[in-house]
Amino acid sequence: MLVFCESSTERFIDKVEKLCQRIFSEFRDDNLTKTMPGILLDGKGLALQIEADLAVRVTRIREAAGCAKPVLATILVGDDPASATYVKLKGDACRRVGMESRPIFLHQETTTEKLLEAIESLNADEHVHGILLQHPVPPQIDERQCFDHIAIEKDVDGVSSHGFGRMAMKESAYGSATPAGIMRLLGHYEIDLSGLHAVVVGRSPILGKPMAAMLLNADATVTVCHSRTVNLPTLVGLADIVVGAVGKPEFIKADWIKDGAVVVDAGYNPGGIGDIELEPLKERCRAYTPVPGGVGPMTIATLLTQTVEAAEKALR
Ligand code: NAP
Repeated sequence: MLVFCESSTERFIDKVEKLCQRIFSEFRDDNLTKTMPGILLDGKGLALQIEADLAVRVTRIREAAGCAKPVLATILVGDDPASATYVKLKGDACRRVGMESRPIFLHQETTTEKLLEAIESLNADEHVHGILLQHPVPPQIDERQCFDHIAIEKDVDGVSSHGFGRMAMKESAYGSATPAGIMRLLGHYEIDLSGLHAVVVGRSPILGKPMAAMLLNADATVTVCHSRTVNLPTLVGLADIVVGAVGKPEFIKADWIKDGAVVVDAGYNPGGIGDIELEPLKERCRAYTPVPGGVGPMTIATLLTQTVEAAEKALR
């Protein structure tokens, strides 16, 4: 028979309590300090899946349209090698899914009027379903006027003011391809944006501004930063999700970004370097887009998706 006196029972309970506290505190510290590695948001892999789906839709369109393929017209003005590469990548992607890419090359000295004429004739061509004007155009051209001249139903790259306004108002419109691709990637990984604080660094018409509007439409609380923003590192440090859209290699430093944030790098600089210093973040962020293989392939997949949608609508 075991006989405990009062004091030995108290000592026993005390020891058990202390042991429990130690185990609990070690468990808690372990879980607080050892963050899981961030999820890689695999844009390349998702783009391949999207292309496979699009190939099926293109086959259906061709069956319904007497073999006619969906057509994306791409306009390249001038001889910027990076732009030429982007246009080629888009043409290659069209062919992979069975679409036709119709490239139009205009010389470096092209005027706004000449470019408007080219767009006009593509607007009027019933065989063309989507029009892509590769950004940037040479400086003598009024790019905004040319973007806004693209017929809304063929603005599959989502660059027109009309399309932007409709998207921002949550009306049906083709979104700007890069931010729309980012939203699709985040959706694929079930990242719920509602209530998150999103900080977008960059406010360009084709990337930062539509990105901010799309995040807002997804119920994020959005801060948009730009070259005149004061105290950028502090603002970035408040973000649950950061979008880098600056165009400067590794401009956004890893130590500005808090643990557990979602890191989206839309930047693509020479040498395949993004706008965010990504390497130190991989082990302590919630999720991140790699460069390359993150946002870039999603941009092209979105452009193709929106062209296929335009072709399907033209058939109805
Ligand atoms: P952009 O038109 O040059 O715009 C850059 C933005 O960054 C501007 O809003 C600018 O502010 C801001 N910025 C510049 N310096 C800054 C600073 N020191 N602090 C804070 N903000 C600053 O460039 P973009 O066309 O949006 O492209 C941005 C990046 O995305 C580039 O790397 C580009 O290659 C990449 N991109 C990738 C894809 C893709 O498919 N992966 C597609 C498009 C673009 P201000 O407005 O005040 O000048």
